[in-house]
Amino acid sequence: ANQRVFNFSPGPAVLPLPVLEQVQRDLVSLPGYGMSILEMSHRAQGFLDILAGAKQMLRELLAIPENYHIIFLQGGSRLQFSMVPMNLLRGQSAAADYVITGSWSKMALDEAKREGQVKVTWDGKATNYDRLPTQAEAGLNPDAAFTYLCSNETIQGVQFAEELDTGASPLVIDASSDFLHRPLNFKNIGLVYACAQKNAGPAGVTAVIIRDDLLARSQDSLPGYLNFKNHVKEDSLYNTPPTFAIYLMGLVLRWLKDDVGGLKAMHQRNKDKAKLIYDLIDGSGGYFKGHAQTANRSLMNVTFRLPNEALEKKFCKEGEDRGLDGLKGHRSVGGIRASIYNAMPVAGVEALADFMREFKKNNG
Ligand code: PMP
Repeated sequence: ANQRVFNFSPGPAVLPLPVLEQVQRDLVSLPGYGMSILEMSHRAQGFLDILAGAKQMLRELLAIPENYHIIFLQGGSRLQFSMVPMNLLRGQSAAADYVITGSWSKMALDEAKREGQVKVTWDGKATNYDRLPTQAEAGLNPDAAFTYLCSNETIQGVQFAEELDTGASPLVIDASSDFLHRPLNFKNIGLVYACAQKNAGPAGVTAVIIRDDLLARSQDSLPGYLNFKNHVKEDSLYNTPPTFAIYLMGLVLRWLKDDVGGLKAMHQRNKDKAKLIYDLIDGSGGYFKGHAQTANRSLMNVTFRLPNEALEKKFCKEGEDRGLDGLKGHRSVGGIRASIYNAMPVAGVEALADFMREFKKNNG
């Protein structure tokens, strides 16, 4: 009854087992501090060390240049849909460019419209968000106040393999569902944000990485919590931060660094894992049909259909019965979605592939 299943949930999602085991070991009394992280003041040296350590490891893993600040916020990625344009668009004369590649960038656009002038430069709706624009198609304007995209659309399962070149316009990336799955190129980046509950930790904390010069755009008329400047100035201690979530994210970062060997190694592992499933889809003679076009397939969220909905339902049910959990696709796309984030072990993906082969044989 206590056995772990393979959890293919889109988030909150699977965490590395060694991280969970360390949390369990250290929960009642964090070695050296005589109390649980859950009980510790956010002003205590113990927590300040944890916060500084998490920031340092994040900076190292992603090779974040010195002129970027790292802050940890609450409110999830959804708050960033508003907070980003509140801070970076209010008072600007130029519009912000939005590239609409799926459900999450569309929702971000709808929030940004409340804050200022926005322009949609590309929208994948015509083909039901099954592909991404090329650099040439994206229609970007180097004078845009910022250029917004979602690096991985969690619902549709389309993912940019590299950053678009936005020239002088600061690139803003919602990396919620593929943060830390590969190294990032900071050349154009103005701001990156990611809620933790998919690839980086538990729900409750959102990492925001922001280029220093952009802070000058935040107006004093903003509510205090919603102003990036306050969080940078107070080093994520403007209010009580989500201490436990930051602690756990720190352990995930440590796992990435020490156990995995960094983000290049993580990227390779992710490519290998995704290939197991995509190859199977491609070799299934059309029994499994991928949603995303081949060039834009996500390494994190594999979306596909079966011949009919009754079979999809059966697939999820039988998967669950054999310990493959959370395979149901998002209601807006239907079908199956296997989320295979960083912490999903190869054995989990192999178990899914075995199940898919068997299911096809029995229901083909
Ligand atoms: N952006 C993306 C790409 C997401 O996948 C999600 C969550 N599924 C969100 C934003 C919203 O995150 P939150 O629930 O933390 O607000």
